[in-house]
Amino acid sequence: MKIICIGRNYANHAKEMNSPIPSTPMFFMKPDTALLPKKNPFFYPNFTNDLHYECEVVIRISKLGKNISEKFAHEYYHDIGLGIDFTARDLQKQCKENGHPWEIAKAFEHSAPLSEQFIDKSKLTLDNLNFTLYKNGELVQQGNTSDMIFSIDQLIAYVSQFMTLKIGDLLFTGTPEGVGPVQIGDTLTGKIEDTEMFNLKIK
Ligand code: ZN
Repeated sequence: MKIICIGRNYANHAKEMNSPIPSTPMFFMKPDTALLPKKNPFFYPNFTNDLHYECEVVIRISKLGKNISEKFAHEYYHDIGLGIDFTARDLQKQCKENGHPWEIAKAFEHSAPLSEQFIDKSKLTLDNLNFTLYKNGELVQQGNTSDMIFSIDQLIAYVSQFMTLKIGDLLFTGTPEGVGPVQIGDTLTGKIEDTEMFNLKIK
């Protein structure tokens, strides 16, 4: 199983990172060890002093495919979840400055906590979906999938040109603006519309 994460898929997030708006999708990957096993606590890693949350809609691939056309991409997923693309922003900055890959900042242990629950896309308006992240009860990120630069179907078509997508692969579709730091003791709560998807305590 692989985890594919899209970078800069919301214009206002690209802006807050002082990054240009991409003309093609940009993706990176996390290993399966980035998932946080059920009921495990999340521990603040000791190699960063600037751990940021990025709340993202997550698509679970339900059918094997490569070179999938945008037109048929919708046949390759049903389940919609919500996750966090945890980022060690200080390490990421160093990696970017040095022109290095950024795995140490993005792909570390438990860097991709994910909702246990997935919602069948037939129950959602996928191209106009509200999702929110609360830190200690305060709203910190508010996204809507209609603000994506590249749609889910475009992302699947793009990524599948380069690699086969397999059943169970996860696609993190990018974060809206409002990313920020967490501290030990914080609680992150993610919602899709009014449904609570995860509640994660930082230890
Ligand atoms: Zn992200």
